[in-house]
Amino acid sequence: MTQYVYRFGGGVSDGRGLGKELLGGKGANLDGMASIGLPVPPGFTISTEMCTRYYAEGQTFPDSVKAEVAQGLAHIEGVTGKSFGNPADPLLVSVRSGARVSMPGMMDTVLNLGLNDETVQGLAATSGDERFAWDSYRRFIQMYADVVLGLDHGAFEEALEIAKEDQGHFLDTDMSAEDWRKLVGEYKRLVQEQWGKPFPQDVHDQLWGAIGAVFGSWESDRAKVYRRLNDIPGDWGTAVNVQAMVFGNMGETSATGVAFTRNPSTGERAYYGEFLINAQGEDVVAGIRTPQYLTRTAREQAGAKPLSMEEAMPETYAELARVFDLLETHYRDMQDIEFTVERGKLWMLQTRSGKRTAKAALKIAVDMAEEGLITKSEAVGRVDPQALDQLLHPTLDPEAERDVLTKGLPASPGAASGEVVFDADTAETRAQLGAAVILVRIETSPEDIHGMHAAKGILTARGGMTSHAAVVARGMGRPCVSGAGTLAIDAKAKLFRIGDRTIKEGDVITIDGATGEVMAGAVPTVQPELAGDFGTLMEWADGVRRLKVRTNAETPLDCRTARGFGAEGIGLCRTEHMFFDAARITAVRQMILADSEKGRRAALAKLLPEQRSDFAEIFEIMAGLPVTIRLLDPPLHEFLPHEEEEFAEVAEAAGIGVEALKRRAAELHEFNPMLGHRGCRLGVTYPEIYEMQARAIFEAAVEVAEKSGAAPIPEVMVPLVATKRELELMKEVIDRTAEAVFAEKGRRIEYLVGTMIELPRAALKAGEIAEVGQFFSFGTNDLTQTTLGVSRDDAGRFLTTYVDKGIFARDPFVSLDIEGVGELISLAAERGRQTRSDIKLGICGEHGGDPASIAFCESVGLDYVSASPYRVPIARLAAAQAALRA
Ligand code: ADP
Ligand code: MG
Ligand code: MG
Repeated sequence: MTQYVYRFGGGVSDGRGLGKELLGGKGANLDGMASIGLPVPPGFTISTEMCTRYYAEGQTFPDSVKAEVAQGLAHIEGVTGKSFGNPADPLLVSVRSGARVSMPGMMDTVLNLGLNDETVQGLAATSGDERFAWDSYRRFIQMYADVVLGLDHGAFEEALEIAKEDQGHFLDTDMSAEDWRKLVGEYKRLVQEQWGKPFPQDVHDQLWGAIGAVFGSWESDRAKVYRRLNDIPGDWGTAVNVQAMVFGNMGETSATGVAFTRNPSTGERAYYGEFLINAQGEDVVAGIRTPQYLTRTAREQAGAKPLSMEEAMPETYAELARVFDLLETHYRDMQDIEFTVERGKLWMLQTRSGKRTAKAALKIAVDMAEEGLITKSEAVGRVDPQALDQLLHPTLDPEAERDVLTKGLPASPGAASGEVVFDADTAETRAQLGAAVILVRIETSPEDIHGMHAAKGILTARGGMTSHAAVVARGMGRPCVSGAGTLAIDAKAKLFRIGDRTIKEGDVITIDGATGEVMAGAVPTVQPELAGDFGTLMEWADGVRRLKVRTNAETPLDCRTARGFGAEGIGLCRTEHMFFDAARITAVRQMILADSEKGRRAALAKLLPEQRSDFAEIFEIMAGLPVTIRLLDPPLHEFLPHEEEEFAEVAEAAGIGVEALKRRAAELHEFNPMLGHRGCRLGVTYPEIYEMQARAIFEAAVEVAEKSGAAPIPEVMVPLVATKRELELMKEVIDRTAEAVFAEKGRRIEYLVGTMIELPRAALKAGEIAEVGQFFSFGTNDLTQTTLGVSRDDAGRFLTTYVDKGIFARDPFVSLDIEGVGELISLAAERGRQTRSDIKLGICGEHGGDPASIAFCESVGLDYVSASPYRVPIARLAAAQAALRA
């Protein structure tokens, strides 16, 4: 019989070594802490397997689990000496969700479970604190009503506000036992009214209600959205943790807090965190009271008055610091910790590898390797390649004028400008229309995730450095300023005020997540610094990487940026952008409109010097490196006008009548341009076009070789090949042109002719095509479209549903469909190599910058990946990680 319940604490650790897959992250680490002897309140974990079974069996629990849970409770009772539901000395527990990775979409924790009208008396008696007992009970009802019963929490908050006002109290801490008792009565009335049944008094009903709610939340909309955004499979399931309560709200020697073993923003080696005296659970992150600093240094740096934990509770703090070091050594990573102090005694409630900014991730990885805690290879594996994105983008220009409105907490670094919006839905709709938005909220909650994702930055009026907004923003790499207290937000009127200034929805502001500044208008930015930890880690990565990394670029600016980021050549230089240039489009159109080869050649002759200088500039930047140039690919009608008023202009410039122009445009019209007269089909029908391009390439190459001495290595790439014969015809044109140029110039250079593999037929016939082609570059954008029969531009309407229903694990245009498209790639690579053992293989689709796809490229032994300039460092790191895993 499968075991579903695993106990921990009080010297027991049933789950030792079983890991997060089974126990969830929270459960595995509670067990881990218990197993190394740290003070963890006793409890048990119901495994993720139970979650899967719960859904498989129509959301019910087998009897065996009921028995196991009873044993789990007995374990907690044994360790604590209290018993569940006992009116004299009641055991209270928390019920906490915990998936493999921490997930904001999951059910919130219920604390103080086990209280009812009788046990509350017992709690008052044993704690000797009636006020505490009734405060705990009202918290429990409020949480249970909200997260388990799903009742409207606004009504409960309102009742609390009214109760405080009635008593003339400002703070929760001003409320007396009697005040709380009355509020409990009111809460119970609200439950009856909204739920139609009295608040459950049976503690076992309470427990099973909460357990069911945790499992139920796995399929909530919030959880699903989060999973989709973060590529978390739906079949992982969540675990449930039931744990004895410890109380941080038992007076002035009690406290609760959250901490990181290193600074999660900068990576600096210093304990970092916040705590609150006489508080419970989420009080610290909820932003109701302003938390106090953990260390004296942090307090002094912030110029804050309230004593730090180091000063207020020196002994407990010393114990905590000892635990921090033990945890870092045990987990060999920076930890994010939750703790509670009950009457001077420290209890550990959670630890996990801490979320961090990219900057911190880099620093921590490099530091830990240098401290000898991890190896250099491990350091390379520690940084999420995608997260580097945060570092590669510009920060605010320190010289620029700043119209500072206010200053909040620097919750997540990076700078962002955008128009102000006040709710997540608007953020999403505006962003879809291409607007840069800053989401401004009093505080954020898990319902805001989609808006935070759509926003360029997040600004909140409340909440500390560990608030929901701060943690989520850091995880997503969004700049965030939190706790900007002087901000008076009127979300209904869609505006906020700071002093006498008013900012309305749509107005542009800038936030600087590194300083906490909020500024009016857009502030200019500067390029990032790529030395330091970044340089060190990249060097380590390059040391283990096998795949070469090239870039997709065609403008000199992109080429230089990519070189700066470490690109080792160009994997895709598209030539059509060059044709669109205002100075050339007329000649391009004359070429298209010509009705004879002679006319086309005359127009092409005008384009030749332009193309030559384009290539020369690129070859100079990429001196000595391979440059893959793709010959003209799009259908010709893309270059003709679409608007009525343009026709007259174009006809005049091209020297033909408007009617003739329209006729030609109509002739060129295609029903399905993606599968139409494009790619090498253009070269086959109008060889003179490719001939001109080849001439421009070779003339430029010879020119640069003569001038600089470093000969570029052109790789001439023929697009959309399906058959060997097509490539053969095109190679003849290219080789003939090369020979002609070399003869004219009296100088030869090395070059290759190859093809893009972007049609299934080409992949299948790769063995034959390799008889002609000297290299293959997998054009996975089109290969995905043609293999799946899905148009990328039209997929938006159904792709999300496809991902939701598990048909695709991820958007196949972002991350390669490894099973399908990947099979074609590996087959083509194999067949190509059989014919030509030294055939060069690369990938130039969007996927060349996606870490999962790069891992696949490593596994099939491609020679290089090619990514857009800003993704080059991401690809370098991902390639290194793939090599390490191989
Ligand atoms: P989350 O995953 O949202 O952090 P947690 O389960 O960690 O949720 O709990 C929310 C809050 O309740 C945290 O502050 C946590 O420390 C506190 N908490 C959870 N269980 C207990 C417990 N047994 N005793 C005291 N506080 C607890
Ligand atoms: Mg939570
Ligand atoms: Mg927690």
